[in-house]
Parts: sequence; structure tokens; C-alpha cells
Amino acid sequence: MKGTTLNSSLIRNVRPWGGEASDVTVTDGHISAVAPHNPAAVPEGEVVEGRGRLLLPSFSDVHVHLDSTRLGLPFREHTGAPGVWGMMLNDRNNWRNAEATIGERVETTLRMMIERGTTRVRSYAQVDVDCKLERFEAVVAARETHKDRADVKIIAFPQAGLLLEKGSAELLEESLKAGADVVGGIDPCTLDRDPVRHLDIVFGLAEKYQLPIDIHLHEPGELGLFSADLIAERTRALGMQGNVTISHGYPLWSVSEAHTRALIETWAELDISTATVAPGGRHQPPIVQLAEAGVRVGLGEDGQRDYWSPYGNADMLDRTWQLAFANGFRADTLIEHAVAVATMGGASILDRSVPGLRSTADRPGTQVSDVASFVLVPGDSVAAAVMDRPGDRTVLHRGRVVADQQQLL
Ligand SMILES: [Zn+2]
Repeated sequence: MKGTTLNSSLIRNVRPWGGEASDVTVTDGHISAVAPHNPAAVPEGEVVEGRGRLLLPSFSDVHVHLDSTRLGLPFREHTGAPGVWGMMLNDRNNWRNAEATIGERVETTLRMMIERGTTRVRSYAQVDVDCKLERFEAVVAARETHKDRADVKIIAFPQAGLLLEKGSAELLEESLKAGADVVGGIDPCTLDRDPVRHLDIVFGLAEKYQLPIDIHLHEPGELGLFSADLIAERTRALGMQGNVTISHGYPLWSVSEAHTRALIETWAELDISTATVAPGGRHQPPIVQLAEAGVRVGLGEDGQRDYWSPYGNADMLDRTWQLAFANGFRADTLIEHAVAVATMGGASILDRSVPGLRSTADRPGTQVSDVASFVLVPGDSVAAAVMDRPGDRTVLHRGRVVADQQQLL
């Protein structure tokens, strides 16, 4: 009897995306049936009690620096100097003196993220002449520790640029040989001050190792648009459609409406995706227009309570609130859209076979054949859960409960 039911379980009495009370059957890590909740049924096999909570896809953090956090350590006064280089140096001068090893810090943060509902992760691992592959290896180790609880992809990230310090590009390549999943790049004009050489190295390595690209772009206005142009040009020339992500990019959207329209058109055409961290300040990526144009958009927590920033608490539901708040969303449908971005929007960046959101009304991730990675959370509605951010959560990864009440199982 067990042969057929071994990998099957029932998530009882949940409301997918706030809909009707349902019983969700999971087989081999995927949803095999969704039926109206039947309180009288006596199910066989494993049962997860939903208790009328919302059933949402688990969160996807697609822009997190697992190798820089200080979560769980004593709060530290912010000592960073302004600008990417100043902040990078602040981290470089201090990270080895943290109260816990880099391995412990990465593991703690990933664990806390899983406990709060994130089971899909795309993390940076800084690679430079100071840390070499030490931080990359710490992220690899944490991924291994939690491999049954979360899917983690690693972006080899040249935080200190590729041209300013001798040996940077070689170390980036070494991390790709060692198994990094994505090639990173950063501010090719303002940091390395040689956008063509920077991008040629990044795209060259991506082509050589057949890997996708993720570029941190904080460059202002016209300069940022120039870099975005060079990125699009290379994406087209190398046939890398669907394999390039521009992270942050918030200053790109403040030049003019015509530039914004053209950029959205280009990204939709080349399937260039974007990851936002819902930053403070005036400029936000236009996530509604991006969704309507079919551009993949994901959300991330960036560095969390680290040498760059005191913000962040491993809770993507909090960051979803921030995304809704920063965009001035009030309508329930837009607040729910923020949840869709934070869950399946990011999932579609991690795995290009997962479709991106098609509109602000799209609520994917809880239908038959979808991967059974969920967070159960109480709430009168999805928007209410974003406002209240309750702690009563149950987290499933590929059909298995991996955390409950913010504790790993
Ligand atoms: Zn970042």
C-alpha cells in the first residue's frame, strides 16, 4: 500500500491566494489535486493542517548577499563611507572580525530565511583579491546544509570591480570553474570606469561557461541607460535572451517617460529580467508597467544587517510590505501583485522555464502540477497578511514541511 502513497500528502483547509477553503494533494513534490475543503474526510498518509490559513507560493529571494550578513550577531554601529567603493572597503576591513565565522553567518541567515518562508534563493558570493573564494565556499557549504529545504543558486560577484585590482577577473573565473551558477557584474562605468572591458569580461565568461548574467546597476540617469544599452547590445549579439538580469537599476527610470517606455520594450524583447530590493528614495522600478509588458521582476533583501546597511531581517514578507509601501500601493490587487513578484516573479528568474507574471492580476504557483513550495500564513486576505505579517507560518519545500512557527524542522 505504501508504494503508491509514500510521496503523497494532504495540505488540509487552506485558502490558495485567499480563495475558497481547499484541500491540496501533493504528490512527488508537486500539486496533484486541489479540491474544496471537506471537513468530514479522513485522509490517509501525511496531513499538514492549514487551519484556514492562506496558501501562498514560498518566497523567492533573488537578490540577497548571504555572505555579508550579521543577522544573529550583536547590532553594530554603521561605519560605512558613502559610495560603492567606500562601503566595500568598510566590509573588507571588518568582515573577518565578526563574532562568528563566515560559514556560521551564511548558514544562520539562510536558516532564518527558510524559517520565515523563503525556499528559493539566488545569492551573491563576493569574489575579490581580498577574500578570494572564501566567501563563495561559505555560501556553497550553507547551500549543502540546507539542500533539502531550499533551492539556492549562487552568483559569483565581483563587488570590487574587475579592473581596479589585478587578478579580479581571474578569481571570478575560478569561482565559475568551482561551480557558481551565475556570472555577476557591477556598475561598469562608475566603478571600473571602462564599461566595454568590464562587460566584455562578464559576457565572455558567461559565453565560455554557458551561464546567465546578473549585473548590479546603480549608475545614475543617462549613464545608467548607457550601460543598460551596452548590456542589451551584448545580450542580442550573443543570443543571451532570457539569461540576463539587471539588479537594482532604480535610477534608470527617472530620465523621461520616453526612455522608460523604450527600456521596457527592450527588456521585454530580450527577456532581460530585473530584481529590485524596494529601495528607499524616490526612484522605484515601475513594477506594474514591467509586469504588463511581460518583463520578469523579482524581489530581494540585498545585504541584511551587514557592513553596508542595518536593514533586513530575513523576512521576505516584511520586504514585500516594503515593496508595496515604496510603490504607494493601496489597492488589494496591487498589494497582492507585490506578493506575486516576491514569490513566483522571483521563481521565474531562478528558473526560466517558470513563466514570468503576465499582468498585475496573475496569481500563479498554487495550481495542479505546480511545485509544492508554499508558505501558510493567517490573514483575512493576502493584502491583510502583508499588512500584519503574522509569525504563525508553516513552510513547505517541494511537498515537505521544512519549518513551522519560524523554527526549522
Ligand atoms: Zn546587492
